[in-house]
Amino acid sequence: MTCGFHLDHYGEILGAAKAGGYRFAHFEDAPVEGTVLLRHDVDLSLEAAVRMAELEHAAGASATYFLMVESVFYNLASREGVAAIDRLRELGHRVALHAVYPSAPLDPRFDPVVAWHNPDPEYMRAPLADGRINVMQDPWFGPATYRSDSNQFWRSGCPHDELRTGAFPWLQLLTHPEIWAYPGETMGETMRAMLEAERARRLQQLADDRIDLR
Ligand SMILES: [Zn+2]
Ligand SMILES: [Zn+2]
Repeated sequence: MTCGFHLDHYGEILGAAKAGGYRFAHFEDAPVEGTVLLRHDVDLSLEAAVRMAELEHAAGASATYFLMVESVFYNLASREGVAAIDRLRELGHRVALHAVYPSAPLDPRFDPVVAWHNPDPEYMRAPLADGRINVMQDPWFGPATYRSDSNQFWRSGCPHDELRTGAFPWLQLLTHPEIWAYPGETMGETMRAMLEAERARRLQQLADDRIDLR
């Protein structure tokens, strides 16, 4: 097994978790022994999120998708945004807010769970005043039970082996869908591949909007 950042290997990671005897859980309950909390911070692409969500659904896994309401990359109020939220829910996933500090508006589209985007240490692990769960607060976060694919790099290694052998008591696994849905050996290559796909999508949107592209 090679640890590339592509959906095939993401599927293998899910398979390893199942082989290791783990169950997939969400953030509404405190993590317990033998659970994996699949967390996705959707920084850039709803299309990538939906592709990952479909793969998880087919693999019998359920995750929590954290979506931004102030993103320059996507608009949840657009037809595409509404359809993406509906599809994520329909596939059995949770949907919650990926917030940019200090703005974390209450929003009926989301479960009462918040993940900060690029948080600073001062507030990263602080509970929210309104009782919503911060995914990095106690007891949902611990350095030994957390792995993240930030910038297409596993700081503590790809978790598939430890999942397969049941080495984690439980795990919060943060992955960013766009890293897995688009090809590239580095974050830069992956981002360029995403922009190529985006270009085709934008051209279609222009045509749909009756823009004359001749
Ligand atoms: Zn791996
Ligand atoms: Zn983020």
